[in-house]
Amino acid sequence: MKEKKLKILVVEDSKLNQEVLRRILAKDYNIVLAQDGTEALEKVKVEIPDLILLDIILPGIDGFDVLTELKKCDESHLIPVIIISGRSNPDDEVKGLKLGAVDYITKPFHEIVVKARVETQVRILKQMRIIEEFGFIDTLTNIPNRRQFDQYLIREWNRAKRENIPISIVMIDVDHFKMYNDTHGHQQGDLALQTVAGTIASSLKRKTDIAARWGGEEFSVLLPNTTLDGAVQVAEDIRKNVETASIPFPGADLYHNVTISTGVSEMLPDDNVSISNLVLQADKALYKAKELGRNRVCTPAD
Ligand code: GH3
Ligand code: MG
Ligand code: MG
Ligand code: MG
Repeated sequence: MKEKKLKILVVEDSKLNQEVLRRILAKDYNIVLAQDGTEALEKVKVEIPDLILLDIILPGIDGFDVLTELKKCDESHLIPVIIISGRSNPDDEVKGLKLGAVDYITKPFHEIVVKARVETQVRILKQMRIIEEFGFIDTLTNIPNRRQFDQYLIREWNRAKRENIPISIVMIDVDHFKMYNDTHGHQQGDLALQTVAGTIASSLKRKTDIAARWGGEEFSVLLPNTTLDGAVQVAEDIRKNVETASIPFPGADLYHNVTISTGVSEMLPDDNVSISNLVLQADKALYKAKELGRNRVCTPAD
């Protein structure tokens, strides 16, 4: 299948330079033009380009201010910007890079230089996308994500089956987290999730134990070669550690104690039981922990 052309927004007021850039890049990229800064900031939102070539000297707001705006805005702050300038001036170059540009090309344009610089950024961009798509680390909390957890779970499940040893799982859900967000704001909620993740991860003792962000405000812990009793102990440690972790919030010398509910289950894998059952049992126990008043550890027997 032919790859879809990436889109480049060229912000340049000179018709001649627009044409030169179009001639150099149009074969490989989908080119969108903006004549000035205002048009650029509007087009970025509609076109969502993959890369931006930004002239510094523009009528109205100049390129540096456009760059500052692009970096402030949620929709555009991750789009790489290459500055194109008629001034070969180190101060300008440093200023642009400090404001977040990834590269600087001076005019007049040399076809091979423009192509090479653009290709470099496109290559980096593609690598970043692959890492994101196939990444194994949750970007908010820096602990393994669900994908990594699932793979590890399958591997350890099969090992437990072969070696006839137990495997346990702990499902964790932050208590009343919607209220936390509503009280302290979503950004503070994100920080709280980071602290909870770090606390869970640092509560684990064996090298084979793994904690992951299951999704949202839910986490999971896999404990290979661990019985239910052992897993309950780990879950209780995690619960206590989260309860006593100080999670500050801005505005005052105040802390909001976050608590978690956990459900634990154990299995001795054989052909009659499935992985999904292990998770389901822990989920049911977690539901029970919520029902019984939260901030506690439950097992399928509760
Ligand atoms: P419960 O004790 O029953 O679990 O109550 P709860 O409020 O935690 O449960 P609910 O499922 O109603 O809400 C989960 C909340 O978690 C809602 C959502 O805004 C928040 N949340 C999920 N993911 C994130 C995130 O990445 N960041 C932040 N800040 N909040 C998140
Ligand atoms: Mg210009
Ligand atoms: Mg939840
Ligand atoms: Mg919750």
